[in-house]
Amino acid sequence: MRKIFTDFPITDEFILQGIDAKHVLRVLRYDVGDTVMVTDCTGNTYACEIVESDGVVARLQPLKHISSKKASSGVVVLAVGLLKNDKFDWVIQKGTELGVDVIVPIQMEHCVVKLNDNRQSNKLNRWRRIAIEAAKQCGRDDIPIVDEIATWDKLCIDYKDYHFLVPYERETRPLRDVIPAFRQGNIVVCIGPEGGFSLSEIDVVKSMVGATYSVSLGTRILRAETAALATLAIIMYERGL
Ligand code: SAH
Repeated sequence: MRKIFTDFPITDEFILQGIDAKHVLRVLRYDVGDTVMVTDCTGNTYACEIVESDGVVARLQPLKHISSKKASSGVVVLAVGLLKNDKFDWVIQKGTELGVDVIVPIQMEHCVVKLNDNRQSNKLNRWRRIAIEAAKQCGRDDIPIVDEIATWDKLCIDYKDYHFLVPYERETRPLRDVIPAFRQGNIVVCIGPEGGFSLSEIDVVKSMVGATYSVSLGTRILRAETAALATLAIIMYERGL
C-alpha cells in the first residue's frame, strides 16, 4: 500500500480527502471499521480506523502509535544548478528515493535555464508534488523539503556550518579520499548545472564554507543528474541509510 501522509500532526480524529481518500476508499475499497497506516508531518505513523465515510471523504480515528522517525545521522542537503527541460524533476524524484532531506535548486552562473518569478513558483509547486509522490511511492516516513530557488552565495551562507561535498569536473582528488568527513553529520552535496561550476563559484564556496571538499567522480564527465544520483548513492551507502 502506498504511504498516506498528512501535512499536520495527528493528535485526534481527522479528515482524509483528495487523492489519498480516493486511493483508500475507491482503489483499496476500504470502508468504516477498516484500519489504515497514516504518517503525519512530524514523521509519526499511526494505525487509524475509518469511523465515517461517504465514499469520497473519510473521518479517521488514530488507534495506535506505530513508529516515529528514526534518529538521523545528520541532514543531507542536495543543491543542484537549475537544469534544462524536465531533468530537475528527475533529480527530485530520485533524490527523494535515495533519502535526501532537503533539495535546493540553485540559479548558477553557467545555468542555461533562467526562470522568472512566475515560472519559479510553478516549478516549485511541481517539484514539491513530485517529492510527495516519490516519498509515498518509496515508503519513506517524511517528505523532503524542496527549498526556494537560491543563489550560490545564499546557499554558502545558509549552510556555512555544514560539510560541503562538491563534485567538480576539474578536480582530481577522488571522492573516496574524503568519504570519512561525510559518514555522519550535516552535509551539502553540490552539483553544477550542464555548463559546470564557474571558477568564482568554486572560490566562493572555498572561502565561505570552512569544510569544503571538492572531488572528482572519475575521468568521465557525467551529466549533472547522473553525478547527483551517483554521489548520493555512495553517500547513503557510507552512512548506512
Ligand atoms: N560542462 C562541464 C561539465 C558539467 S557536468 C564540462 O564539460 O566540463 C555537471 C556537473 O556534474 C558538474 O558541475 C559536477 O558537479 C558534476 N560532475 C560531472 N562529472 C563529474 C566528474 N567526473 N567529477 C566531478 N564532478 C562531476
